[in-house]
Amino acid sequence: MDTIQSDNYPIYFDNSIDELVNFVNKGGYSRFFILTDENTGIHCLPLLKSKIGSEEGYDLIEITAGEESKDIDFCIGVWKMLIDFGADRKSLLINLGGGVISDLGGFAASTFKRGIDFVHVPTTLLSQVDASVGGKTGIDIDSIKNIIGTFTQPKAVFIHYDFLKTLPARQILSGLAEMLKHGLIQDAAYWAELKTSDLKNPSAELVHRSVQIKNKITIEDPHEKGIRKALNFGHTIGHAVETNSLINDADPLSHGEAIAIGMICESYLAHKKTGLSLDELNEIVKVLSDLYPRYTIQESSFDTLLAHMLKDKKNQGGKINCTLLTHIGQCNIDNICTEAELCESLLYYIN
Ligand code: NAD
Ligand code: ZN
Repeated sequence: MDTIQSDNYPIYFDNSIDELVNFVNKGGYSRFFILTDENTGIHCLPLLKSKIGSEEGYDLIEITAGEESKDIDFCIGVWKMLIDFGADRKSLLINLGGGVISDLGGFAASTFKRGIDFVHVPTTLLSQVDASVGGKTGIDIDSIKNIIGTFTQPKAVFIHYDFLKTLPARQILSGLAEMLKHGLIQDAAYWAELKTSDLKNPSAELVHRSVQIKNKITIEDPHEKGIRKALNFGHTIGHAVETNSLINDADPLSHGEAIAIGMICESYLAHKKTGLSLDELNEIVKVLSDLYPRYTIQESSFDTLLAHMLKDKKNQGGKINCTLLTHIGQCNIDNICTEAELCESLLYYIN
């Protein structure tokens, strides 16, 4: 599969781990560091180590798996390890993991000594089709997602499709939500293809298509002033539901599960406000409901969900903003939604 060129970095696909080893060898780095979590340390690091060969020239930094690690304490931990290992401005950080590793590692690297180089080796479907592309880095504070962060591009992204073989089915479904989103906002033909594919096992070609869509949008608008907001479809309501679930549920929703709920609610809003037809709404709801388990949202939690939506950094002037579809494959950004409309869409999901 073709390498995709982003703004000023390549996104490699086939044999990408060999490309990574070439990149490290040719990059003139003083030393490199590999950031993993407990799971990628077990499932993905051995392949990388075997390709690197020598045990010298690099150090490992491992963090606990999960969204709870995407916070300032873990970031300080990464900075301290870099200091202890003697990292300098010519050091490279390799982020080997899912979106938590790429967001946290990207943020830690982009701020360490005013910025050192980093690359992503995304190992979840979500990070391959979404989080590793586009240059957003970040950490959460008090469950407010990505509230601190930078726009800093990696030097390269290395997508090794086979890393998905050890990924739990629930994590595949989580990444799939972003792929479905890519079709819905930009590419009706891709959505139609996804609908008829084996969605529990998306092919490498479909991963490549999604990366193309995400990459095209983020090249056009790297700092999210306009068209990049299209990628927020499903995320205004989805992030609020995700945050609430992280705080309250023993087994919280994955990012994609929450975004699937957000996409159902925001498609309903699109039907009411931006011309999405009833047939299109029903089609979207059917595809998403067949894939994702039903989640209970209590009416008594609506106020809390609205409060989370108001804290969303995408808002301006205290108004809640949504990206809404006009048709399958097309969308409109910057639609202000009232609290009454948002509650109505949550009621639509519940019923
Ligand atoms: P994650 O990084 O927590 O990974 C999910 C789980 O899968 C973890 O337990 C991880 O250890 C495990 N795992 C990773 N690779 C594995 C493998 N190959 N085999 C077995 N287990 C593996 O979560 P995620 O879903 O990848 O990413 C979610 C994060 O990404 C969120 O914090 C979200 O905000 C962020 N995100 C960022 C962007 C962006 O543009 N920067 C875009 C979308 C999402
Ligand atoms: Zn997302």
